Amino acid sequence: MKNPRAAVIGAGIGGLAAAIRLAHQGYAVTVFEANPYPGGKLSEITSDGYRFDAGPSLFTLPDQVDALFRLVGEEPRDHFDYERLDEICRYFWEDGTCLTAWADPVRFAQEVEAQLGEPAERVLQFLRRSRTYFELVGELFLFRSLHKPSTFLNRTALRAIRQLPKLGLFSTMHGANADFFLDPRLVQLFNRFATYNGSDPYQTPALLNIIPHLEHNIGAFFPRQGMHSITTSLVALARRQGVTFRLGTPVERILTHRGKAIGLQVAGKPLPFRVIVSNADVVSTYRRLLPERRHPHRILRQPKSSSALIFYWGIDRQFPQLGLHNIFFSRDYRREFAHIFRHQTVSDDPTVYLNITSKYKPDDAPPGGENWFTMVNVPNNAGQDWDGLIAQTRQHVLAKLSRLLSCDAASLIRTEALLDPRSIEARTASAQGALYGNSSNNRYAAFLRHANYSSQLAHLYFCGGSVHPGGGIPLSLLSARIATELVAERENRSPFLPL
Ligand code: FAD
Repeated sequence: MKNPRAAVIGAGIGGLAAAIRLAHQGYAVTVFEANPYPGGKLSEITSDGYRFDAGPSLFTLPDQVDALFRLVGEEPRDHFDYERLDEICRYFWEDGTCLTAWADPVRFAQEVEAQLGEPAERVLQFLRRSRTYFELVGELFLFRSLHKPSTFLNRTALRAIRQLPKLGLFSTMHGANADFFLDPRLVQLFNRFATYNGSDPYQTPALLNIIPHLEHNIGAFFPRQGMHSITTSLVALARRQGVTFRLGTPVERILTHRGKAIGLQVAGKPLPFRVIVSNADVVSTYRRLLPERRHPHRILRQPKSSSALIFYWGIDRQFPQLGLHNIFFSRDYRREFAHIFRHQTVSDDPTVYLNITSKYKPDDAPPGGENWFTMVNVPNNAGQDWDGLIAQTRQHVLAKLSRLLSCDAASLIRTEALLDPRSIEARTASAQGALYGNSSNNRYAAFLRHANYSSQLAHLYFCGGSVHPGGGIPLSLLSARIATELVAERENRSPFLPL
């Protein structure tokens, strides 16, 4: 008997993981990707001898990638290699303070005490608490479907739910951090973790203080061939599992019949599939691919996460005072986030994130140069005058970097490319160019993400950063795991209806 056919819409990181998992379950899998390249947000740009990872730059929970190799009996290190960073990030403030966040928590805490005067023991206490909270709620919120009663009917889940008020469901991240630390620079440093899922530290619940655990206790990692090698190694793995890729092939419709998803319309032609997993943003899945169906408006209209403005600058000088990850903080963080989330614009003093992969992978820049991925958090696309905002922000970023690095940054740029909320939206079909789907700016956000299956259409499932459990590489990988576990549970119960 032939293997049942499964389709994955989109070759983002979630779609690649779903394809590998479905192939492992015995499906004949085809991935349809609108772009001529796979990876979605996890792609790369090359120009004049410089290489840039286009989207994600921080790699956490690498075991979620390893798990895909192990699932099919392969040794991950034979195909995909990474190292744990000794130094996580270098932080710079306008008052001249510089601080290195070492991976070793004790060394980091001592550095904080030396540079900021905050007792090292407080920092260690904060990181211990972050670990405890992660261990209490991580399993419930990240590793399982939140939309199945069985998720909640066990002792671990009940214990986590009872603890939620204590863990900070009712206070904000900023409120909790300002109560905990004396030094405002340290409050700012830990508030920044709200941006890891595109949220506002002045609104997002303190529960998100579980995020520093990932970076500071488990670790930050760097794939030796760059972030884009996550995509290339997973595509190669999928191909070894027999997955077919149809790149440059947008899906036009999900075809339905009597409450079931039964196939796809591609290039005007119907193609039958037993199972369909959409890795396309959930808003565009409904609006573009299922325009005639009833839409879950409450979920689709949730406020979206922030977006980003990225200047990819090929620089012809090297800066020993910089590392792989560098943050240049704004003077007034609250004002910066009010600009993003309340006024939907960009402050004149944005925090600048500078990622330089040539520090670890020298061939990413010509000799004597560096590849600067220079990113500012900005609002999602609501039709702002982006050309005007980009021109202003470029000036502010260059002025800030020139000031804090004692150079004329503009004169060092040899090549330049740009990504903004409009191009993120156009290239990945992400609603409003949001990086992480819905924002987590309210305490019910986790429950207002779309499930990993359709409650209207049998055989239709969802994965990727716009659905449960959320955005970012590790969570998008987990979404694929949850979606395909649901496929395994549900599909052998219902007969296939041919088109
Ligand atoms: P996406 O990458 O959103 O891809 C979806 C794919 O579906 C696209 O390729 C699209 O073309 C395709 N598609 C859509 N509609 C159709 C259709 N009709 N037919 C066929 N194909 C279709 N995460 C981190 O973990 N660490 C970071 O440091 C980090 N930084 C980031 C910085 C930037 C600038 C960006 C943009 C994102 C960042 N993220 C980061 C977030 C992370 O990149 C995403 O959460 C993750 O890659 C989303 O993957 P996904 O599976 O949702 O797919």
